[in-house]
Amino acid sequence: MKSNDIDLDNLTFSFTKTRSMYVAKCELGGEWQSGNIVPFDDLQISPAAGVLNYGQGLFEGMKAYKWDNGKIVIFRPEKNAERAARGCSRLSMPKIPANLFLDAAKKVVRDNADYIPNTKQGSLYVRPIIFGSGAGLGVAPSTEYTLVVYVSPVGPYFKGGLSPIRLIVTNDYHRAPLKGTGGVKAIGNYVPGMLPSGLAKKQGYAEVIYLDAAEEKYIEEVGAANFFAIIDGKVITPELTGSILPGVTRESVLYLAHEKMGLNIEERRISVDEALTADEVFCAGTAAIIAPIGSINYQGKEHIFSEGMVGRITKELYDALTAIQFGTEKDEFQWMTEI
Ligand SMILES: *Cc1c(COP(=O)(O)O)cnc(C)c1O
Repeated sequence: MKSNDIDLDNLTFSFTKTRSMYVAKCELGGEWQSGNIVPFDDLQISPAAGVLNYGQGLFEGMKAYKWDNGKIVIFRPEKNAERAARGCSRLSMPKIPANLFLDAAKKVVRDNADYIPNTKQGSLYVRPIIFGSGAGLGVAPSTEYTLVVYVSPVGPYFKGGLSPIRLIVTNDYHRAPLKGTGGVKAIGNYVPGMLPSGLAKKQGYAEVIYLDAAEEKYIEEVGAANFFAIIDGKVITPELTGSILPGVTRESVLYLAHEKMGLNIEERRISVDEALTADEVFCAGTAAIIAPIGSINYQGKEHIFSEGMVGRITKELYDALTAIQFGTEKDEFQWMTEI
C-alpha cells in the first residue's frame, strides 16, 4: 500500500503493508551475511523448512516514532538485539550480531519513514523475525537461516488515553514451564496462548493471567506483557526465573520507578493472593506500553483495583515513560536511537 493511501491519523493496532523489508541469510556453521532492503512481498520457502516443521524461529517487536521536531527514533533497539541473540542460542540458530540487527532495523525504518504516523497518532511497529529456512527432514537445526525485518504503522493501543482492562487468571493453561523457552521470544510460545486468550475474550476479558507451571501459585505474565503490582508504594514484578520473558518495557519501568521516581522496586515471586491485595496493578509491553488493570477474576471472583480507575503511580510511570518515547521530555538515559 502506498503511504499516501493510508489514513495515518486513524490507525489501529493491526498490520498494514509498507514499501519494503530487509532480508539477510546465514548458512548453518557460517556467519550472518549483511542483507538488503527489498520490496515488501511474500517469501518463498521450502515446505521442508525448519520453521514450518519444527517451529525453529523467534520474533522481536520494537516501536519507531516520528517526533514533532521531525526526528525519527527507535526505543532501546539494542535491548531487542541482545534478546534476539540470546533467543538464537536457545533455539539452536546462529547468533544474530547486534550491529546487523540494528542496521537492518534502522534501514527498514528509514526506507519506510513516510509510513510513520505522528507521535500522537501512533508509531511504526518494527518486527524482526529469525527462522530456520533451510530444508531438512530430521528434528535438527536447519541448514539455513533468514532474518526478515518488516514494519507496520500502528495506532495507539488505547484510543483516548489509558483505560483499565479486565483480566482473568487461568488455572487450566500454562504459558511456559521452568527450563523451557518462556524466557525468549520463540514463535512456538505464542500459539498455545491463543485458545485461553480467545476463551477469556469471549467472556469479556482482555487477556489471561498465567500462573507458574510448578506450583500454580505465583503470577507469571499477562498474555504477552509483564505484570506489575504496587503495594504500599513499592513497585513489585515477578523475578525472571527463565519462564518469564524479560521485557524491555519491564526493565525500563523498573529503572524509571527507582532512578527517576525514587520508589522501592522488588523483583521477586508474587503470589496471586498477594497480588489481589495490591493498591494498583498494571502490565507492560511494547504494544500497549503500560496497561492499567481494573479488575482480576480469580476462581470466579472479581477483584477491583484502584476503584476501576487508573492508579496514581501507574499513571506517573506511564507519563514518565511516554515522555521519553514521545520526545516531550529530555531523553536523559539515552534510550532513543535516532536513525
Ligand atoms: C514481548 C513480550 C513481553 C514484553 O516485552 P517488551 O520487550 O516490553 O515488548 C512480555 N511478555 C511476553 C511473553 C512477550 O512475548
